[in-house]
Amino acid sequence: MKDKLLGKNLAGLKEAAASCGLKPFVGKQLAEWLYQKRVRSWDAMTNISKDSKARLQESFELGTVAPIGEARSSDGTRKYLFPVSESQAVEAVMIPDEDRRTLCVSSQAGCKMGCKFCMTGRQGWHGNLDTGDIINQFISIEESSELTNTVFMGMGEPLDNYDAVAGAIEILTADWGFGWSPKRITLSTIGVLPKLRRYLDEQHCHLAVSLHNPFPEERLQMMPVQKAWPVQDVVDLIRQYDFSGQRRVSFEYTMFAGFNDDKLHADALIRLLKGIECRVNLIRFHKIPDFPYECATDKAMTAFRDRLSNNGITCTIRSSRGEDILAACGMLAGQQKR
Ligand code: SF4
Repeated sequence: MKDKLLGKNLAGLKEAAASCGLKPFVGKQLAEWLYQKRVRSWDAMTNISKDSKARLQESFELGTVAPIGEARSSDGTRKYLFPVSESQAVEAVMIPDEDRRTLCVSSQAGCKMGCKFCMTGRQGWHGNLDTGDIINQFISIEESSELTNTVFMGMGEPLDNYDAVAGAIEILTADWGFGWSPKRITLSTIGVLPKLRRYLDEQHCHLAVSLHNPFPEERLQMMPVQKAWPVQDVVDLIRQYDFSGQRRVSFEYTMFAGFNDDKLHADALIRLLKGIECRVNLIRFHKIPDFPYECATDKAMTAFRDRLSNNGITCTIRSSRGEDILAACGMLAGQQKR
């Protein structure tokens, strides 16, 4: 199988060019075509000579892969299905919002973390995406040139595939790449502690933590990760970093009726997050099969939000997007490739 160019950083592209006996500037041209102009074919790379392309093609493929399925929501949200191996496919969701176009990207086929309320977690883990697979989700969609933001919040736990995700962040933020500010990127995690520390030390992008319950025993019922990396330890780590400037931290809190939506939980959450400059996003739970809980009522969500706000925590009820095409939070199931 040929090595692919997509996913390589500038140094990697220069090396690829050199390995074909070409000058390093060809590597720079490749970065421009792939990441700045986001083309999907060799033919589009008009300033690279035929001979140079032929030499590159002997050893490399571009690595761009078109989606094999898509669905469009009545609210404009668009879900794409990308093949990532012989048998697996992952989903990416493009969410339009006024002048923003946010792409929710997947980092793994399935997920090892097994959160009970999540369709991705239910299907188990089928492999990591490489950096090229992640970047392809940005390049091979119709809205590629319009994208303004991204959230690593699709299928998989991004910190369980840290190196590939870090490679994608490098391409997104580098001058030779997309040239995005880290402020346009948010990584969402359930708190894989050792990698979270690395992320906070090495990256400057925003962080979203899936918290969902302030009480350890209750959180464990829904999220097996609580056993290895308790939420208290995650919050203690976050407290050591500065979120008063450019980088922001938010906590995601999916609301289940009769489970985590009352005053007791709101007060415990307030205590847990005390002293951290953060936002809490309340998320409507989308019913999935064979799961006992329903979404909290609007009344309960509003009361919960007001209690947090009155105690100095910025709190919003996140509007649901793409529910009719199963693209909302926790609904991404990916699929076996057809
Ligand atoms: Fe994995 Fe995130 Fe789903 Fe948990 S919520 S199973 S970490 S994809």
